[in-house]
Amino acid sequence: MNKLRENTRDLISIIVPCYNEEKALPAFYRAVTEAVNDIGGAECELIFVDDGSRDRTPELLERFSISDSQCRYLSFSRNFGKEAAMYAGLQNASGDYCVFMDADLQHPPELLKEMYRVVKTEGYDCCAGLREDRSGENPVRTFLSRSFYHVIGRVCRLDMGDGKGDFRMMNRAMTDSVLELKEYNRYMKGIFSFVGFETKWIPFHNVARTAGETKWSLGSLFRYAMDGILSFSTAPATLAGTVGALLLLAALLTGVFTLASGHGLAGMPLLICLLLVLNGIQMLFLSILGQYMSKEYIESKRRPIYIVKKKGGF
Ligand code: UDP
Ligand code: MG
Repeated sequence: MNKLRENTRDLISIIVPCYNEEKALPAFYRAVTEAVNDIGGAECELIFVDDGSRDRTPELLERFSISDSQCRYLSFSRNFGKEAAMYAGLQNASGDYCVFMDADLQHPPELLKEMYRVVKTEGYDCCAGLREDRSGENPVRTFLSRSFYHVIGRVCRLDMGDGKGDFRMMNRAMTDSVLELKEYNRYMKGIFSFVGFETKWIPFHNVARTAGETKWSLGSLFRYAMDGILSFSTAPATLAGTVGALLLLAALLTGVFTLASGHGLAGMPLLICLLLVLNGIQMLFLSILGQYMSKEYIESKRRPIYIVKKKGGF
């Protein structure tokens, strides 16, 4: 498939999702080419995925692919989102190792060499960048992001901490496992955590994007956060049940308290009790329905039931 495969050197596929990145791409291309030349023992291919850009991104990518035999690109028919672009890049990558990088140089290309050394020689399946700080970022966004990762960590019971992003180099086994999760609503950070494998985290400092603007508004970040929670957890359905149970308990306590104070259950206390009991029962049954629906929801993703890391002796 790839001319580079004729020799025995490893191939690293660098996957770059791009949405309206005409301002950032020239500097990114220069920096990555330089970093790639510095990696000994491996060849690299650059797979750019143009996610329906409306600026000159597609023209730039076409130019790179004509002048540089290591560059390939795909152009989407419209904006499908970064997750879709990452998946398309992976599907079209033939590397022994695959790495995701943003086009705005917020993922330092100098780390590629170290990442390759780690996955090649230290026995890890994946080497990922751990963003240590959020300096240069809008403080409101920082606060909201941190809170979100705190909640999602507890609710989904998967390792998706703040700073653990998409910048990572994976070996072929992990790459193929990620590709096996074919769900439409993709939440890559959850998928990386779901497939498991050994990951080494190497810290790096946040820098402002080299050029252009972030593609995320607060609204799109909120939708992304909800996607993350709903894709990996049925906790919101369980929440209805918990609230229902609490309402029933409150009804019981109101009843007992009113009776104990010798006022009888007539009038207002009875009304409150009835309201609490009816609402509680309603929410409990809604939650039971929700539990059935969420089981079906997870099933409909057709996720693999398990992922084998290694085989031997058969
Ligand atoms: N991106 C994309 N599709 C989108 C939004 C973003 O392919 O709909 C790409 C974007 O071009 C960049 C990467 O995803 O290469 C990260 O986006 P951005 O820098 O805007 O996100 P931030 O760093 O602000 O989280
Ligand atoms: Mg960025």
